[in-house]
Amino acid sequence: MTDHTSGAHSAARGIESLAVHAGQAFDPTTGAVIPPVHFSTTYAQDGIGGLRGGYEYGRSGNPTRTALETQLAALEGGRHGISFASGLAAEDALLRSVLTPGDEVLLGDDVYGGTYRLIARVLGPWGVKLRVVDMSDLGAVAAALEERPARILWVETPSNPLLRITDIAGLAALGHAVGALVVVDNTFASPALQRPLSLGADVVVHSTTKYLGGHSDVVGGALVLDDDTVAEGARFLQFAAGAVSGPLDAWLTTRGIKTLPLRMQRHSESAQAIAEHLEGSGRVARVYYPGLASHPGHELAARQMTRFGGIVSLALEDAASARRFAESTRLFQLAESLGGVESLVNYPDAMTHASVRGTALAVPEEVVRLSVGIESVDDLLADVDGALAKL
Ligand SMILES: *Cc1c(COP(=O)(O)O)cnc(C)c1O
Repeated sequence: MTDHTSGAHSAARGIESLAVHAGQAFDPTTGAVIPPVHFSTTYAQDGIGGLRGGYEYGRSGNPTRTALETQLAALEGGRHGISFASGLAAEDALLRSVLTPGDEVLLGDDVYGGTYRLIARVLGPWGVKLRVVDMSDLGAVAAALEERPARILWVETPSNPLLRITDIAGLAALGHAVGALVVVDNTFASPALQRPLSLGADVVVHSTTKYLGGHSDVVGGALVLDDDTVAEGARFLQFAAGAVSGPLDAWLTTRGIKTLPLRMQRHSESAQAIAEHLEGSGRVARVYYPGLASHPGHELAARQMTRFGGIVSLALEDAASARRFAESTRLFQLAESLGGVESLVNYPDAMTHASVRGTALAVPEEVVRLSVGIESVDDLLADVDGALAKL
């Protein structure tokens, strides 16, 4: 008889195989192919300190969470995966474990508004400093670092919502030359399209709420990295500050991840079709999508990503047209967030990016962001046309 007990994970190489099998070995006691959700908060000990699986208490460790962390680490090609209750909780743990008062973060000028808010308004009062720069302009980054080094370089690529592309390898080289930790928020691309650690980044941050979970039904976050010392610090804060992901959240995320590569393929194909359609329509002022030859980061994106992703932004004539468009689609539901199987439309200025209005991170008020779902692309194109017809 073939021995199947060593687990399918050991035979998984490609990202599609890892998504299905990493950390997902069948239950050894029952043979259940899907590992159970472990709700227990505490674990029986065989004599004092005699832990059967290394588990002691639900905040310090949980097998369902371990399964998710193994899967995330495998997908990003990192040694350590650490999961949290939300993307911001993951960011907070990383920032607080790495920074000390007086340290500075050099932040991309179009990162997620909540990241800016966390650093400026939560960590700022504790002495953490912040500078903002256009990370897609490596000359500007080099000049900023020459002026004063930073402890952390933090970038999102593609960025939100203008889909700017930053050269991760180039940024890593600049950061490492001044001893900075280079952090990439890989939420928009997901590891199915881009693997920042392989390009030289030190830490990958995720809001698993988006593409990784993929079904708009679970909030979560994660860090993936290679460095043992940084990982130990972040894991200590996961335990000591306690923003852990709950068992059911972790399980839902692992289930979502199994179809990530398939979903990203469909999201990308449909987004490309919509971006080309919008650009060719002559009815919008500008289309932002890295898969378009007209996008300034197109060639770089083609080099460091395997596909261009599921987010398309468009600029209309003015704020009123943008608002009208966002309120006119039917299949694209008007809502915050992104990355789910269902298509969503968002008006950044008053929704996702309202907290950065009036700052260096403000989004032009004529911009609308589409999160292209996995519905029939013909229906999505018709929906976009219907909204354009109402302008
Ligand atoms: C949503 C998001 C976050 C924050 O994650 P939460 O899970 O909402 O805490 C961080 N970065 C990006 C790019 C996001 O889209």
